[in-house]
Amino acid sequence: MWVPRTSDEKDEWYALSKREAGKAGHFAVAVVIVIDLVGFGTLAVINQGESLKSVAFWLTMVAFAMVLIPIAALLGWHIARKEMALFEAQTICPNCEATSQENHGASCDCGGTFALMSEMKWEDDEVDEDEHPEED
Ligand SMILES: [Zn+2]
Repeated sequence: MWVPRTSDEKDEWYALSKREAGKAGHFAVAVVIVIDLVGFGTLAVINQGESLKSVAFWLTMVAFAMVLIPIAALLGWHIARKEMALFEAQTICPNCEATSQENHGASCDCGGTFALMSEMKWEDDEVDEDEHPEED
């Protein structure tokens, strides 16, 4: 059943969701590095590796990455923020498990009330070890 999270669990949810959303930023930076390496690698192949002996070639490669990585990181940060807003807008009806967005507090078709996903968690119906009369 869906039960409200404690404030510690809410913090946990935020940390986890932030990390999940932040992956977009890391991905953008990784893409830039790969494009940089492939692009300059191609250049090196085209001039038969001659450029690999040149300091200017390596400096240009690094400079290229240095300029693009912050831009990619910024872009990733924007994507991560959007993603996070999406996570935060997610709602669930604890009654029938219908999910939706941005309708916190609205009533569900089943008669339940939508709650923020960030404030709810799934908990298995706990069976107490001592309460198994049928096993005897
Ligand atoms: Zn419902």
